[in-house]
Amino acid sequence: MTVDEIEKPAGAWCVNCAKGAGCGIYETRPQSCRTFSCAWLRHPQLPHNLRPDLTRVVLAFDNNATRLVASCDPAHPMAWRKEPIYGHLKRWAESSWASGGQVVVMAGPRLWAITPDEPIELGEMDPGARFAIVRRLDGGWEAKVQPAA
Ligand code: SF4
Repeated sequence: MTVDEIEKPAGAWCVNCAKGAGCGIYETRPQSCRTFSCAWLRHPQLPHNLRPDLTRVVLAFDNNATRLVASCDPAHPMAWRKEPIYGHLKRWAESSWASGGQVVVMAGPRLWAITPDEPIELGEMDPGARFAIVRRLDGGWEAKVQPAA
């Protein structure tokens, strides 16, 4: 995750993180860290086996809850392709696509758009970039990147 207050980029360890112990500045951590809760914490109905330390994937909805972002541990960039997380991502993509929802995977600087069928690799992109996922006439899927607002 990006943490603007401490200029922490996405996809990199925070300099304040004491691995295996927790936040080294917990009492004075930035506001972004105080308010963030991943989707697994926010939605108790999600199964235990989607807990981020088990899957190596943190799930979080963007600000207006239209995009589910699955952020992978940089040390396990393809963790999202494993079960049970990948099956859930595809089902979420399927159930949210018709209403304009999106499911995106972020592994370091690389992004994938998840469709009900195959994932679409978007390359290195800002995870907040705007794009539409459309179904082609041949039944395949395509991601169309849109200019920034
Ligand atoms: S909670 Fe602490 S370790 Fe985690 S990102 Fe924030 S400052 Fe860094």
